[in-house]
Amino acid sequence: MDFFDKVMLITYPNSVGGNLSQLYTFGEKHLTGIIGSIHLLPFYPSSGDRGFAPLDYLDVDPRFGSWEDVHRLGEGFHLVFDFMINHISRRSRFFEDYLAKGEDSEYADMFIRYSRFWPEGRPTGEDLEMIYRRKPRYPYIEVNPGNAGTERVWCTFDEEQIDLDLFSPATRTFLKDRLLFLAGQGPSMIRLDAVPYAVKKPGTSCFFLEPGIWDILGFARDVLRPEGVEVLPEFHEHYRYQFKLAGQGYWVYDFALPMLVLHTLYMGSVARLAGWMRICPRKQFTTLDTHDGIGVVDVHDLLSKQEIEETKNQLFHHGANVKKRYNSPEYGNLDIYQINCTYYSALGNNDDAYILARALQYFAPGTPQVYYTGLLAGENDINLVERTKLGRDINRHAYTLEDAEAQLERDVVKRLFVLTRFRNTYPGFGGDMRIETPGDSRIRIEWTKGKHRTVLFADARDLAFTIEYFDPELDRMVRLEGV
Ligand code: BGC
Repeated sequence: MDFFDKVMLITYPNSVGGNLSQLYTFGEKHLTGIIGSIHLLPFYPSSGDRGFAPLDYLDVDPRFGSWEDVHRLGEGFHLVFDFMINHISRRSRFFEDYLAKGEDSEYADMFIRYSRFWPEGRPTGEDLEMIYRRKPRYPYIEVNPGNAGTERVWCTFDEEQIDLDLFSPATRTFLKDRLLFLAGQGPSMIRLDAVPYAVKKPGTSCFFLEPGIWDILGFARDVLRPEGVEVLPEFHEHYRYQFKLAGQGYWVYDFALPMLVLHTLYMGSVARLAGWMRICPRKQFTTLDTHDGIGVVDVHDLLSKQEIEETKNQLFHHGANVKKRYNSPEYGNLDIYQINCTYYSALGNNDDAYILARALQYFAPGTPQVYYTGLLAGENDINLVERTKLGRDINRHAYTLEDAEAQLERDVVKRLFVLTRFRNTYPGFGGDMRIETPGDSRIRIEWTKGKHRTVLFADARDLAFTIEYFDPELDRMVRLEGV
């Protein structure tokens, strides 16, 4: 089994124990054999969006530790790093140089200046309306570079995150250099954050524009592949885009699964989920939770509009302390297409529903990713949201080492660890899958690889399930106990 057959933990560098060295302590002591890899969310010095506005990539933010800490983690687990290919910090030395020197800056071409990008007299209101936006504003900030007058500079996300011109030689030099530097730090994979926003063209949506997107992805892949590092493009949108990427041989995310599994368990109906598992890309990472919200746009056309509405209503109803206003602009909601909630709370903090949800994820095609609050079956952190007024913080509780260890004593976490260890070590996954739905609420998923065979049999209505697997030593099927 290699890294891609194993369970991947997603965590910030300071979510468990407050820094990388504590994360290592926790990982080494409690996660060995349970997970195979860690997606370490951005650990570079950054000026916003919890690390997603990097100043550069050469350093580890000293609040989290050092490269040595990262390397040490890498000895026990495969690592995935982030690369914010679409943007860089407003406080980066590159943008600050541009602000100081204007067009005389050697870095000016790294940024998209509206005065140069748009033909005379544009953008019109219509041009701006056409652009695919994730913020309730147009994608620019106004600055005064070199005191030469107001300029609009492209800015898709937070105002700390300035978009890069991916087609300028200056940016390409920067990208190549930094990707190679990161590859030298030992990751198995680099995640290309928000990549479809990186190509812009007047008069278009400026989202997933072909062929430019293939050029950028190919560039990153060609730099990283000789170093033995895979790329993982990241974004939320209609699943057809994931198919496009998969068609070109890229790893993809299954961001449709979270809503599908919720729908399955809320409605006691397995047809939609089974339908998706039959057709979904195989070379993918499955998710129920990440550091972002639960994606809604990702499930369009896999659930009907009505089913999506029902699932959303149930999510707000079941979701323990979720309040709709935590998903509104008042709480800085980045994205109207995502709902902020921990997965455990989304299932009403119900242990049986939660363990079944994970079992369904682990038996879906692909490599399972589990976010740290998910691994510890964490509830919504309402206090944190009220303090920061950031909706996404509901799912970003910070655990001290002791807190995290205390969670391991909870029955639900013990059950999840049994299940996760099984998924991480049983050799049957990744072979051939057979899926049957003997009734509206019942699903049977079987994986076979050589002599190894495992079967999940679940009823979404009463939340009961069993897992059986072939034990070569006993030469018969046995039941997985403790889940
Ligand atoms: C990341 C978000 C981030 C955004 C901008 C996303 O896709 O997952 O957390 O805010 O990119 O960098």
